[in-house]
Amino acid sequence: MTAKSDGDSRCCHEKAVALGVEHEVLNPATEAVVTSVPEVTAAEAETAVRRAEAAAVVWGGMAPADRARLLRAFAGLVDRDLEQLAQLEVAEAGHPIASARGEAAAARDVLLYYAGTPERLSGRQIPVAGGLDVTFHEPLGVVGVIVPWNFPMPIATWGFAPALAAGNAVLLKPAELTPLTALHLAKLAEEAGLPEGALQVLPGRGSVVGRFLVEHPAVAKICFTGSVPVGQSIMAACARQTKRVTLELGGKSPNIVFADADLEKAAATAPYAVFDNAGQDCCARSRMLVQRSVYDEFMSSFEAAVRGVVVGDPRDEKTEMGPLISAGQRERVRAFVPADAPVAFRGSAPAGAGFWYEPTVLAGSAASMTGLAAWRDEVFGPVVCVVPFEDEAEAIRLANATPYGLSGSIWTRDTGRAIRVSRAVQAGNLSVNSHSSVRYSTPFGGFKQSGLGRELGPDAALAFTEEKNVFIATD
Ligand code: NAP
Ligand code: MG
Repeated sequence: MTAKSDGDSRCCHEKAVALGVEHEVLNPATEAVVTSVPEVTAAEAETAVRRAEAAAVVWGGMAPADRARLLRAFAGLVDRDLEQLAQLEVAEAGHPIASARGEAAAARDVLLYYAGTPERLSGRQIPVAGGLDVTFHEPLGVVGVIVPWNFPMPIATWGFAPALAAGNAVLLKPAELTPLTALHLAKLAEEAGLPEGALQVLPGRGSVVGRFLVEHPAVAKICFTGSVPVGQSIMAACARQTKRVTLELGGKSPNIVFADADLEKAAATAPYAVFDNAGQDCCARSRMLVQRSVYDEFMSSFEAAVRGVVVGDPRDEKTEMGPLISAGQRERVRAFVPADAPVAFRGSAPAGAGFWYEPTVLAGSAASMTGLAAWRDEVFGPVVCVVPFEDEAEAIRLANATPYGLSGSIWTRDTGRAIRVSRAVQAGNLSVNSHSSVRYSTPFGGFKQSGLGRELGPDAALAFTEEKNVFIATD
């Protein structure tokens, strides 16, 4: 462990109690214990850092083509174990099997995409007097990747694939609730022939293992995905060591439907833009803004679409929405819908075991919503607020009236309006007449409190490097 000041002995005692325990992984659809995973001890975490330091030297020093080949081999093994990885995601995160297969395929594709990076991580040659000036993108060394439980497998690969591609060793801290796919991926990295220790998974609590990585001086960067408060505390802690940090935080994204849109399509797709993964999606379009002149027409189609969402057993290929991740998360979500909440309509959810919550639609004027937490704050559950607006200016004002800025959708057939509104909405990832947010080949990240830096896309590996300038005299 990193040295702690004497004044923090209470915290050290808590760490001693927390370390070395077993964590029971629950199936959120059944509440049954899937398995239990030992959380790393302080000594094991320290050993992992030392191993990562050694691996970074070997991996970072390897010829670019060899790193590329090993990353392709890693992707090939992910492809071989696709079904097993998908089943683990169903068991530990309650994701519908069809989505889980897509997530495992996404992990493979992200690895394949960044396998192209080592041989393309070229610097520049800059014209100067008296010599040759060139830049290099040097790896940082050891990188800590801390991920949440909502999309355990894709979010982990968004961090570790470009970090590895840039020549770093990675210490991956999965969420305590969902360590299983991460553990399997690390085994595949080793089987593919990556140097021992190049990708290590450290299961355990955020306040213990996550904090250990944030505070450890040998960890050069933290790539964090999670909540705003934890992200802010990590940024503050990183500042003490001038440690590099990337933050992917929460969202309260708008889905803006103009009167001239394809209303059928907008209404049919809107439930999936917010209820996908039971709303536990940082890009969930949880604020629907609908132009007043088509509000009633839209709402009747939207209601039919919400009632049509198939909520149930994640193992069933037809299931579209599973349970919430935990009992605690369900309590959090319930608190967003008090007895006097303006519920317009709801979908269905199974009764009995499992952390189920039905898709829930709240509706009212912007003024009537101001006191409602579900309108203001990220719910991270299947709850959406619908508010009518008059014109383009009001739509933009409402869309931007939030400290978040991650994503959003704009539905209109007017190309000029699509471009104007896209430029005016303060968010990192917008889609027009679609709800797509994340593609591995395009940059992803937030404005305002939704984050700092970008992941994915052609430049992601650069965030795991230092740019070095070298001048070589010719005289
Ligand atoms: P969280 O509580 O912030 O946790 C995220 C990760 O950080 C977990 O691995 C957690 O470990 C760890 N952690 C907690 N406290 C820590 C600390 N003091 N130091 C270091 N690490 C710490 O978030 P969550 O509840 O798991 O996930 C939901 C949030 O993630 C939502 O707000 C959502 O919007 C956000 N999210 C953002 C994106 C994006 O790309 N922008 C994507 C997905 C999710 P434990 O879980 O083991 O405690
Ligand atoms: Mg948490």
